[in-house]
Amino acid sequence: MEVSLDLKQRQSEEFPSVALSHLSSSSFAADLPDSCDALFVADHSGVPRLRFTQPGSPDAALDLDLRITQIFRLGPVELLVVSEGSDTKNDTEELSSIACKVGFRTEDVTKTFYSAFQQWKLGVINARTGEPLENGSVTASKSKFDSKIEASSAQMYFHYYSQLLHQQNMLQDYVRTGTYYAAVIENRSLFEGRVVVDVGAGSGILSLFAAKAGAKHVYAVEASEMAEYARKLISGNPSLGQRITVVKGKVEEVELPEKADILISEPMGTLLVNERMLESYVIARDRFLVPNGKMFPSLGRIHMAPFSDEYLYVEVANKALFWQQQNYFGVDLSPLYGSAFQGYFSQPVVDAFDPRLLVSPPIYHTLDFTCIKEEELYEIDIPFNFIASVGTRVHGLACWFDVLFNGKYVERWLTTAPGAPTTHWYQLRCVLQQPLYVMAGQEITGRLQLVAHSAQSYTIYLTMSAKMWGPGADQGGILQTSSGKLELKEPYYRLSQPQPYVSAQDQQTLQQPLHSQEVSPQMQEGTGPSVAMQSNQNSLSLS
Ligand code: SAH
Repeated sequence: MEVSLDLKQRQSEEFPSVALSHLSSSSFAADLPDSCDALFVADHSGVPRLRFTQPGSPDAALDLDLRITQIFRLGPVELLVVSEGSDTKNDTEELSSIACKVGFRTEDVTKTFYSAFQQWKLGVINARTGEPLENGSVTASKSKFDSKIEASSAQMYFHYYSQLLHQQNMLQDYVRTGTYYAAVIENRSLFEGRVVVDVGAGSGILSLFAAKAGAKHVYAVEASEMAEYARKLISGNPSLGQRITVVKGKVEEVELPEKADILISEPMGTLLVNERMLESYVIARDRFLVPNGKMFPSLGRIHMAPFSDEYLYVEVANKALFWQQQNYFGVDLSPLYGSAFQGYFSQPVVDAFDPRLLVSPPIYHTLDFTCIKEEELYEIDIPFNFIASVGTRVHGLACWFDVLFNGKYVERWLTTAPGAPTTHWYQLRCVLQQPLYVMAGQEITGRLQLVAHSAQSYTIYLTMSAKMWGPGADQGGILQTSSGKLELKEPYYRLSQPQPYVSAQDQQTLQQPLHSQEVSPQMQEGTGPSVAMQSNQNSLSLS
C-alpha cells in the first residue's frame, strides 16, 4: 500500500505498555525499565525518533534516531530494534550501538508498530540531501525484501558488507572492477547527462565511475552501514562527488526523487545467483528505471559442463574418513560416517580449475535482467544434454557465469570461466557421490535445479544420467543416474593449494591406480587412498 504523508503535519504515534529488554549496548549501560510507552516523533530538526519512556517520567529511557535504526521480527509478538552509527542528539554527535527486544501484547499491535516504524523511517529520507522530506511517499506494508528474507540472514549479510575489508576484496578483483570501469568509460556517451542509480553501491565505486563518465546525477543506494563510508569516499572526491547522492536503505524500500535512465550494479554472487541480490536488481529496475532504460549489466548466463577430477573426488570423500574411526578415545565414530560423507558432498566446491577437466563443451542458461520477473528467480530449472568428448569418469557438474554490458558502442563481457583470468568468484563444482562412467560420444543428460530460500541463497538439486557402458551397452544399455542435493550457502573454498590437474583424457591412464583407491561410502577403515590433497578453508567474499 502506498501512502503519502506530510511529516511536518504528522502527529506522533504512541504504543503504550510495551516490554523492553536490552540485548547489547556499547553506548550506555543504563538499565531499561521492563515496561515502557513507545513513541514515534519527529524532533525539532525533523529527524524521526523512537522514544521509550516510563509512564510518569518526562525523560526518555531510550531515544533512537530512526535513520540509523533497523527493525527485525523475532516472533509474532516480538521485534528486535538495532541502532548503530553516529546519532545526532541535541545537536551533538554520539557514537552508539544498541540492540533491544520489544515485546507486545498482540500480534496486531506488533504489526502496526512494525509498519509505523517503517513509515517513520522511510518517510524522511530525502535522496539528494539526506535531510527530512517535507512530503514523502512511503511504503506502509512490509517490503519485498523483508517478506522473503529471514531477518537474521539479512542482518549478517549487511554486517558483512558494512566492513571495508570485504569491499576491498571486491575492489582488488581487478578483472571485475576493471571490466566495470572499461564498460562504463567506453560507453561514456550513454552516461553523459543521464540519471543513474547504483544498486547496492557498497563503497560507491561504480557511482564514481558513472559520475566520471559524465552522469548528471547518481543515486548510490546502499543498505548496509557501508553507506557511511561511501559518503566519506564520495565527499573526498568532490569533483565527482557533487553529482552523487548516497541513499542509505534497501532498494526495495527507499524512495528516489526521480527516475533513472541507467541502472548500474554488481549483484552477482557465486554461481551468479547466490545472495539473491539479482532479485533486488530486478526490483530496482521496476521501481526506478524509465521504460527502455539501460541496465549495466543487462544479462547474465550460467554456464555448465560435466567434469572429471579424480583428485577432487577423492579429496572430498576422504574428508569423511575421520568418522570411520572405531576407537576415538574409546568411542566408535562410524555411526556418523554416512552422514559426514553426505555432508561433504553437499558442499559445492569453489576453486579455479583447469578447463581441460571438462568432459563436454559447455552449455549456458540466460537470465535477461531487463525483462525477467523477480519471481522467476525463485526457482531456476536448467535441463541439460551433453555429449562426452572422451571416455572417462564424470564426477559432477562444473559451473560458472558471465554478465554482459551491452553499451551503445562497445559490448563487454565479464566472465568467470575456467581458463580466463581468475576472479574472486572462481568457479563452482557440484561433486556427485557416485561418479558416472561415460564413453566418448555418449550422451549425458540431467537437470540442475536452483531453489531459492530465505537465507539469501539456493538449494541445488543436480541429477546426471548416462547409459551404462560395458556389457549390455549394445543392447540399449542400462541408465546410470546420480543425484545430489547441495547447499550453495555452504561452499567448500578449496583455494589455498596450487591445484594439480589431470585432463579428462590423461585420467584414463590414471584410472587404474586411482580406481583401486576409490573411496565409497562402504569403504573400510584403513584402506584410505594415498592420493589425498591438503586444503584449507579460506574466507571469501560473498559476492
Ligand atoms: N557496487 C559495489 C558493491 C557490490 S557488493 C562494488 O561494485 O564494489 C553488493 C552491495 O550491495 C553490498 O554492499 C550490499 O550491502 C548491497 N546490497 C545488497 N542488497 C541490497 C539491497 N537490497 N538494497 C541495497 N543495497 C544492497
